[in-house]
Amino acid sequence: MATQAKDFYSILGVAENASADEIKKAYRKLAKQNHPDANPNDSAAAERFKSISEAYSVLSDDAKRKQYDQMRKLGAFDGMGGFGGAPRGGRPRPGGPGAAPGGGFDFDTGNLGDVGGLGDLFGSIFDMGRRRGRSQGPERGRSVEYAVDISFEVAARGGRQAITVPVTENCATCGGNGARTGTKPVTCPECKGSGTVVFGQGGFAVSRPCPGCYGRGTIATDPCPTCAGQGQIRRQKQVQVTIPAGVDTDSKLRLAGQGEAGASGGAPGDIVLTFRVQPHSFFTREGLDVHCTVPVNIAQASLGSRIRVRTLDGRVNLRIPPGTQPGTRFRIKGQGIEKGGRRGDQFVRVEVKVPSNLDPKEETLLREFAEAAELKY
Ligand SMILES: [Zn+2]
Ligand SMILES: [Zn+2]
Repeated sequence: MATQAKDFYSILGVAENASADEIKKAYRKLAKQNHPDANPNDSAAAERFKSISEAYSVLSDDAKRKQYDQMRKLGAFDGMGGFGGAPRGGRPRPGGPGAAPGGGFDFDTGNLGDVGGLGDLFGSIFDMGRRRGRSQGPERGRSVEYAVDISFEVAARGGRQAITVPVTENCATCGGNGARTGTKPVTCPECKGSGTVVFGQGGFAVSRPCPGCYGRGTIATDPCPTCAGQGQIRRQKQVQVTIPAGVDTDSKLRLAGQGEAGASGGAPGDIVLTFRVQPHSFFTREGLDVHCTVPVNIAQASLGSRIRVRTLDGRVNLRIPPGTQPGTRFRIKGQGIEKGGRRGDQFVRVEVKVPSNLDPKEETLLREFAEAAELKY
């Protein structure tokens, strides 16, 4: 199984001989900057946050760090870039001549099983099979997860909403081969077009994407200006989403084939949306029912009245019978959340407002009422 290694030291931006304290400091600073709470809807920051946490989980643990350092000494990490490289599943960034791929390399853990238990470590700290060499054929594009805030009304009744999602797509200018229009990429002399190079050291061999061509097998001698020879571009994609009625916070919606472009002719990934329903100033939700509170005055509660109540679809009349007590709930049928052809109800709680700051006439009348009703005050 091919796995991808990452350079945890450059991810945290610390030296290889950094002290535990320095590592902790660097981690805290980066984790704060890239924390999902501080970067809502930023999937790049979320990825960085993940990498940072992963790096810290290894480097902050003495035993794990030792094992990891051993691995680095074995030569696997020569010239590795930091997390500024390609997004997961995307292509590495172009670098100078002979630069290593930005994200990592591929190797076979099977050959490492007997080297001081390193195989275990690889299994736990490496990103399994994220990027493959060109020789392994078409690779499906990555699926992009995205959180979308929607209004209470759209969640209740459904609707259309435009969202913007960052995705990696094949460069339209060069068709994904990285070469300037009118020029043709040539077979990479370093890997002879296979896209991977193998180097052996000690008792095991390591296979990694060719640093000369970033695993593509070809080299653009005259790089495409749009993608700088990368073959793919990162862009903000606008998608019109039809949101079905009845979704709730944490409901998911999969937009098939709208995610990141596949590699080597692979199918694109999906966009997976997770909804977050915004709270409403008037309504709250309980399953398919909605609840609200409406104020009435003591005369309306005591004598009865008709009030106008806001619903998800507009307004309706609600009859308040004489002698309605505070906290009484009334049901308006079929004015709740819609889902799968069913609709919940709306519950209206009556809150009786006691008048204050009475003017002289009101006070006189209220005193008369109190006397007539023989109330003590
Ligand atoms: Zn090559
Ligand atoms: Zn291009």
